[in-house]
Amino acid sequence: MTLLEPKLPDAGLAGCFIDGNWHWPEGRLTIENPSRRQPVCEVGRGAAKEIDLAVAAANRAFPAWRALAASERGRMLTELGNRLADNAEEVARVLAAESGNCIKTQSRGEAAGASGVLKYYGGVAVEQKGETLPLGPGLFSYSTREPHGVVGSIIPWNSPLQLGAVKISMALATGNTLVLKPAEDAPLAVLKLVEMAADIFPPGVFNVVTGTGEEAGAALTAHPDVAKISFTGSSEVGRLVSHAAADRIARVTLELGGKSPCIVFPDACTSGRIEATAQGVVNAMRFARQGQSCTAGSRLFVHKSVWDTLMPLVTEKAAAMKVGDALDPEADIGAVINAERYGEIRSYVAEAESQGAVFHTGETPPEDPAGFQPIPTILSGLDNSWRIAREEVFGPVLVAIPWEDEADVISMANDTHYGLAAFIFSREMDTIVRMTRSLDAGWIQVNQGGGQIPGMSYGGTKQSGTGSEYSIEGALEAYTYRKCVTVAVEA
Ligand code: NAD
Repeated sequence: MTLLEPKLPDAGLAGCFIDGNWHWPEGRLTIENPSRRQPVCEVGRGAAKEIDLAVAAANRAFPAWRALAASERGRMLTELGNRLADNAEEVARVLAAESGNCIKTQSRGEAAGASGVLKYYGGVAVEQKGETLPLGPGLFSYSTREPHGVVGSIIPWNSPLQLGAVKISMALATGNTLVLKPAEDAPLAVLKLVEMAADIFPPGVFNVVTGTGEEAGAALTAHPDVAKISFTGSSEVGRLVSHAAADRIARVTLELGGKSPCIVFPDACTSGRIEATAQGVVNAMRFARQGQSCTAGSRLFVHKSVWDTLMPLVTEKAAAMKVGDALDPEADIGAVINAERYGEIRSYVAEAESQGAVFHTGETPPEDPAGFQPIPTILSGLDNSWRIAREEVFGPVLVAIPWEDEADVISMANDTHYGLAAFIFSREMDTIVRMTRSLDAGWIQVNQGGGQIPGMSYGGTKQSGTGSEYSIEGALEAYTYRKCVTVAVEA
């Protein structure tokens, strides 16, 4: 097996891009390759001082940026999307090295997807339209969509490039300026993207401060000159971010965790359909991302009548996936991001094992592995009240529960404080309409388990978040306010 080589960022290792220049802060972060548990490099670790500088630069750049024609802002985003497409393989390898997401199944797709997001927003930036209201003779009213000012965006490590592209695009397309804080575990692919962006946007429009959540993240959310915060990450930190924003009535978008149900009906398991359904369930669980996806369909509800036919097929497909180094071109499943996350996944599985869960495939992972490769695991013999069935494991662990009555499965599916995604497998239109109406989820996929696509509205309900991203409508709602102008005219 020949492993691919990543080409690391160059100037970007400084970690902080402020007012059009790279800036080395005092502190350093060591970035590790989780597939091998080896250091990859050191990057600058910005903190409150760099956040202050970046917010001040973004504030200075805001008046000219908001005044620029939207088509011009869009052109720059499209240019960045094109540059990313031209360098996609190079960026994908860096992403695989730092995140543990396999080059074959995830990192290449993420680089292509991030380029698509930038180009989508580049195209729709001109759609920043308002409304008109003829109020009768002598009065005319119209509204415009105005940017808030400086946006502070914080992203996690699990799909850093895609989420970085979403945050950059939504903030800049709508005329805001930006300070982006990447995750401390996986900032390198984002820093490669910033290198490509360095000569596209005017100084101060787009700033990046790499650092920890406690130092750089908290300073950004608490900064009085940040008008809006867009946060993607855990519900726990989302709560802290909300509190910080509430103190100064700043706007907030939160994209948080999930524990999404995946519900299979008998009609999806006929001989012609069962294969596609089993593959859809495996895709929905995001085994190829080590289960580290907020939308993972990690609670599988299978109708009792098809349990014995579907479960072996799902198990066979998950067990056949090749676990390996993320830079192995043949591997399907890579590594969990770090020791802490690996240990948490391990303890969830060990607890379920000690309580008598049935293992269809997988086992409790070893305590001190050479790389943080997890073991794809499918469990049953438990119910919706077990901790592993209620909490976000954020690992490749699928909990399967049989059901008989539709009202019962709806109630189990909704019995969670999360409301991010849901998956339904059925070909009956009546069933699909009934189910989609009944489930508490911001995004429901029917007969597939794919990823987000630019243009769709994506966001959670309940404690999975507020606001939606990925669409121009979501960007306008979340990143602008309506200014209404009422004009007295001579009749
Ligand atoms: P996390 O909340 O620990 O960290 C996310 C980001 O927040 C990181 O950049 C981190 O440095 C920063 N942060 C940490 N503490 C902070 C603080 N006190 N103030 C400000 N920022 C702080 O999450 P994670 O472990 O990196 O990511 C996994 C979580 O993200 C999961 O819960 C997953 O479901 C969620 N997620 C949600 C979506 C979505 O679209 N809904 C997408 C991806 C990931």
